Order: sequence, then structure tokens, then C-alpha cells
Amino acid sequence: MEQLTLFEEIRNFKNHKKYRNNVFKTKAEIEKELQAKGVDKIYYILSFGGGTQSTHLLEQHLKGLIHYDYIIFSDTGAEPQFIHEQVEWWQKRQREYGNTTPFIITHHKSMERGLEEMLMRYINTDYQRFQLPVYCNKIDEETGEEVKAGIMQRQCTVDFKIIPVKQKARQLVLEELGLKSNQRMPSNVSFIIDIGFSYDEIKRINFCQSPQFKYMYLAYPLVEENLTTEDSINFLIDNQMPCKRSRCYLCPFNCDSTGVDWKEIIHEEPLSFLKACYFDEQLRLVQKTRRKVMQSIPYFHYTRIPLSEVYAEQFKHLNEQFKEELQSWVSIWKKEINRKYNLKVA
Ligand code: SF4
Repeated sequence: MEQLTLFEEIRNFKNHKKYRNNVFKTKAEIEKELQAKGVDKIYYILSFGGGTQSTHLLEQHLKGLIHYDYIIFSDTGAEPQFIHEQVEWWQKRQREYGNTTPFIITHHKSMERGLEEMLMRYINTDYQRFQLPVYCNKIDEETGEEVKAGIMQRQCTVDFKIIPVKQKARQLVLEELGLKSNQRMPSNVSFIIDIGFSYDEIKRINFCQSPQFKYMYLAYPLVEENLTTEDSINFLIDNQMPCKRSRCYLCPFNCDSTGVDWKEIIHEEPLSFLKACYFDEQLRLVQKTRRKVMQSIPYFHYTRIPLSEVYAEQFKHLNEQFKEELQSWVSIWKKEINRKYNLKVA
């Protein structure tokens, strides 16, 4: 019994320094503050990822436990097909429930095809912005050997997931209010966007108020429920719901035996694995040309070994099997980059 009390004490988000230091607040606290500021219309949004945690929140919404005005999924352009299938599964479930909350799919505003477009643009043009958390090496000046040089900052989640959801929510509400896209949000209107971070992910929480749109606030209901990622996965398993972890097929955070595995991508989507190997190699080649601001040598795999070597056997076999599909994908992309960015791509 004593042990249980201690465990519950550890799992109480109110004891976490991020909560104690006001890095985040509960939804009820945000609502109270907004009401005190004269806000009388709050729009509730679910930022839906299609994986294991925001789906848990969606299920609570379908059961009438959480209210949402909009459910918004931002397609990063690099989610595996099995995540798109999970999104469809949840849309079907919503229909079966007779729930009519608008369920919208959106994407990056200018790079509509997401991370694949960003990477192809980066590799084939002089575009310099790079958002992926790749592992880095640098050349040791004394030995001439590669040595570890940290990891690049993750900006892709914000640029390709979080901001598109906020932009779409803003657009939908302005339309609902009969306002134009360039008009100001009325001062009596605010948004609370639910993010599916779990208790074990509190470290990922950095904001309560959106840095981009000051009338938007972020809430973390699973944290408030003291639920971990594992709790949500167990809930989905117990209820025979799909439970693959959402992430991009090329995500450098893919790491075997964690539920976000390279092996799952290799097994489920061999062509996507080859695409990841292609990007991994091309990024090092382009970095070598010194055309880029990027100083470090990038790797998708945490061992800082080319992906095609980490999984050498699978790569060899799959490359033989899907060589033509891969070449055709590269060639279509090069034409698209050429068309969109008006540059001659070799
Ligand atoms: S899953 Fe990985 S690659 Fe995709 S947006 Fe998140 S951090 Fe970036």
C-alpha cells in the first residue's frame, strides 16, 4: 500500500517542475484565466496524430468525455501508409458513433507535400532550411576522422505538424465567424488545442500559450490524467483498436525495439525504407559539396552509420526488388522540384 502511494505520488503531474513553474497549465486553469480576460468564446481543437495517444483522446471525445469543435490531422508527407490507414480507421469509427465534429486533414502551407518535398528541395536546390533531428559527425582536424558532433535541433514537428494545425484552426474559425483570412481574430475568441503528449513525455512540453498565435493555448489532457504512453497503448490493445506508433518513415528517432522501429518500416513499407536510405545518403553527398550552411555530416541512424549499411542485408535484397520503383519516385520528384521551384535539376 505504501508503495502504491509512492507510485501515485510520482505519477502526479502537479508535482512536476514544468507544472510548478507554469510551463503548462491544466485546461480548467486556462479556461479560468481566459474568462477573467473577457474571452467568452473558446474553440476546442484536437491535434490528431493518428498514432497511440491522440487517438486515445479522440476515443474520449467520441464517448462524450471531451468536447472538440475540430479534429485536425496534419500530414507531414512522410507518414507510413499504416498511419494513414489508422487515420481512416478512426474516421470510420467516428462515423459509426454518429459524431459529426469536423475531421480535417491539412499540411504545411507552402510545401504541401511535406517532408519529402522539403528534403528533395534541400537536396536539389539552394534551399537552406533543414528541420530534421539528424545525428551529426564532424571531421577531427588532428586525425581527419569523423567524430560525434551532437544532434540537429528538431524543428520538423513544429513546422510540419503543430503550425499547420494552428493555421488550419485559425482559418476554420475565421470562416465560421464570417471573417477574411487577413482579418484579426476578435479579442473575445480563444483556442485551446489538445496535444496528445503523455505523462512520460512532460519534458516535451515547452509552452502553454502558442508562440505563433497569442490567442491559442495548448493543453495536455493525458498528462492531466497522469497517463503514460504505455497506458494509452494498453487501452488501445484492450479495446482491439489499431496501435501503431505515429511517426515519419524517415524519422531519425526511429530506433529498434521502442515501438517506433526501423524494422517495422523495413517490414511494412520496404520502398519507404529505401527512400529513407536515399535521403540519408543524398544529404551527406550534398553536405560534402559545401553548398549548404550545414557544417555537420548528417546521419539518419543513431549509430552514425549509413542506413543502408546498418541494415545491409535487407537493403541489398530490397534494392534489387524495388530498384525501378525507387528510380521512378526520384525522377518524378526531380521533375516536380523543377516545376515548382523553376530550377534545372540534374
Ligand atoms: S516523426 Fe520525426 S521526422 Fe516526423 S515530424 Fe516528428 S520528429 Fe520530425
